[in-house]
Amino acid sequence: MSAGQDQDDDGCAEAEYESIRLAARSFCLDTLQDLETGMGDESYGDILYHASYKSARHWCEKEAFAHGLAGVELFEHYLERLSARGWGRFSLAEADFRTGTADVRLDHSTLVLSQAEACAARTCYMFAGWFAGMMDWIGENAGKPLSTICCETQCGADGFDHCIFAIRPRLLN
Ligand SMILES: [Zn+2]
Repeated sequence: MSAGQDQDDDGCAEAEYESIRLAARSFCLDTLQDLETGMGDESYGDILYHASYKSARHWCEKEAFAHGLAGVELFEHYLERLSARGWGRFSLAEADFRTGTADVRLDHSTLVLSQAEACAARTCYMFAGWFAGMMDWIGENAGKPLSTICCETQCGADGFDHCIFAIRPRLLN
């Protein structure tokens, strides 16, 4: 690595990392579109939601202890890492971690930008499970177990300039 060249967390030189990141993202997008076409939106969406929910919890488990983060700081760290991986720019619009309520804003969603033309509503639903998984993990690890759900309630694919994901407590019977 030459002097002054940045290095990311994983130890890859910046240029090398960029090409790996773009290749990985392209692979994911192609795979997602194939799955969506083959399975129909509903079952595909459910599978993705549960997979991303689990993956967010696994990530929390590692990153919370590695960096000594909890609560809103851990959540914002996760959004930074997702943004750095090229899915779009994620930010926390508002949040109440005591009740498990938060809105995540997404600008420049890759899934919206990858659509050739006008497309169906709420294109970025694959991200939703991540945020519910994060919120539930944070609640449990603060000693206040939560059970939340997350939905994309506004999408750039509908003509808005950004997407919104609403995390809300589940209504318990
Ligand atoms: Zn969207």
